[in-house]
Amino acid sequence: MNLALISHQTCMEHRMGAHHPECPERLHAIQDRLIASGMEMLVTHFDSPAATIDQLARVHDRAYIQSIMDAAPKTDDALTWIDGDTAMNRHSLEAALHSAGAAILGVDLVMGDRYHTAFCSVRPPGHHAGRAKASGFCIFNNVAIGAAHALEHHGLERVAIVDFDVHHGDGTEEIFAGDERILFCSSFQHPFYPGTGADSVAPNVVNLPMPRLTDGEAFKAKVEASWLPRLNAFAPQLIMVSAGFDGHVEDDMAHFNLREADFGWITREIHKLATKYCKERVVSCLEGGYTLSALGRCVSTHIDELIGHV
Ligand SMILES: [Zn+2]
Repeated sequence: MNLALISHQTCMEHRMGAHHPECPERLHAIQDRLIASGMEMLVTHFDSPAATIDQLARVHDRAYIQSIMDAAPKTDDALTWIDGDTAMNRHSLEAALHSAGAAILGVDLVMGDRYHTAFCSVRPPGHHAGRAKASGFCIFNNVAIGAAHALEHHGLERVAIVDFDVHHGDGTEEIFAGDERILFCSSFQHPFYPGTGADSVAPNVVNLPMPRLTDGEAFKAKVEASWLPRLNAFAPQLIMVSAGFDGHVEDDMAHFNLREADFGWITREIHKLATKYCKERVVSCLEGGYTLSALGRCVSTHIDELIGHV
């Protein structure tokens, strides 16, 4: 089954200064690796539309959306900082709108018959963005906007969000805590940025804090004991993924010791669940991953498993 690979040119033009780790080269590294590995032949490319204000407003305050629009610089060399780690250049607003739009298009595609799985190769990432705040390189919460679209537009009643980025998905947690239509599973290094996630905030949030130097064996054991029973009991009608690869051993943004095979394993488990409960429907959105070579290899492995071999 073909996979929809969704991106947009503006995602390559959003830049937060010369030395910022969340850089356009990340998407180029993914593209280069997909070509080199032959995976490029197995995907169909889509340009993402811009998300509308109403689509964003399902998860963000309208005043916050307006503040982002107002903050967007109008000149080529201007950079506006909207958070200690997050800036906007002239293209960032469009990139953020098209990144959110990619998650929406991904949901629309997998709810149809031609594509079971979609990967949104987009930036800025989204999972730290809360209802009314930009944070940690994120402006709009792409995966949450996609999940809300699945609930409101497609009428789904159970959407699982699996977040295996090395950082806690605090924005996604804030948006959906207490909303029983969502099961949110987040694994992350703790204690670490952004410092949240150790406490259980709501029954529909399954946080997995793990110590530094966590390796594949420890990660698998925790996921098998905690997430998989909850995901099976939830029987999702769609699985969204916050796909962060910054837990890779070569990634110096954090201190996990995961490898490509471990990201392959968690993706395979997600795909198995989707095959069992929801016609393989998975929409995955890129989050972190900052060492370019490792990011390319991890995404190639992730897409290979999403395409599946069943
Ligand atoms: Zn991260």
